[in-house]
Amino acid sequence: MNLQFDASLAANYKNPAQKIRVMSEIWLLNNIFCPCCGNEHLSELKNNLPVADMRCNVCGEIFELKSKRKTFGAKILDGAYHTMIERITSNINPQLFVMQYSATLCVTDLTLIPKFFFTPNIIEKRKPLSTNARRAGWVGCNILYEKIPDQGKLSIIRDGKETGITEVLSRYKKLTALQTNNLKRRGWTMDVLNCINKISSEVFTLRDVYEFANQLSKNHLENQNVEAKIRQQLQFLRDKGFIEFIGRGVYKKIKFG
Ligand SMILES: [Zn+2]
Repeated sequence: MNLQFDASLAANYKNPAQKIRVMSEIWLLNNIFCPCCGNEHLSELKNNLPVADMRCNVCGEIFELKSKRKTFGAKILDGAYHTMIERITSNINPQLFVMQYSATLCVTDLTLIPKFFFTPNIIEKRKPLSTNARRAGWVGCNILYEKIPDQGKLSIIRDGKETGITEVLSRYKKLTALQTNNLKRRGWTMDVLNCINKISSEVFTLRDVYEFANQLSKNHLENQNVEAKIRQQLQFLRDKGFIEFIGRGVYKKIKFG
């Protein structure tokens, strides 16, 4: 795979952000298969959807691409806050590609965040644009990348190395086991996954996860019985093959990706 952007594509654009957008999108369309079904190419989506760029003509999945030079850090700048929340709550948000490229315009990393890893919790509202701005009052958002569990960051290219298509498809398939349109349940699964990921050892106990109960109850004010919810989520994650139950309140992480 040629990881280099085609700089000639940007010749007709003045705005640096626009140049990158064109080069990165065309690179993706020319080089990347659909990570959901394996279709050889994605197609450009020519319509007015506010936050979608590409579509797979075989499985129908919609994709958005965010790219940045070097690393993203904790946050990814995204579009309008209300649009994003509306899309997540109505389960029509796109799959998200996160791309990093080098100073020499080579793709170094490409990661897919499956749409069902998005919860309103990971969307941060930004300050409205000032009255002097062209779009005064407009409210954008950040995707809190750090809050997405590592399992939901499916690596397609890492440090310039590709993950094979078979591997990507099988990992995506495994992740779909966590898919639910019930946003409350999804929020719980993501939160408990994050807690497990924060535990440094591979083997952990129910008590280790209970340590996060206070923190979890802040995210889920409506829930009176956080420990019962933790047990339910651990069982769910075990059934879906994300953790292993050893016995007597002891669990083991299953390495993923
Ligand atoms: Zn597809």
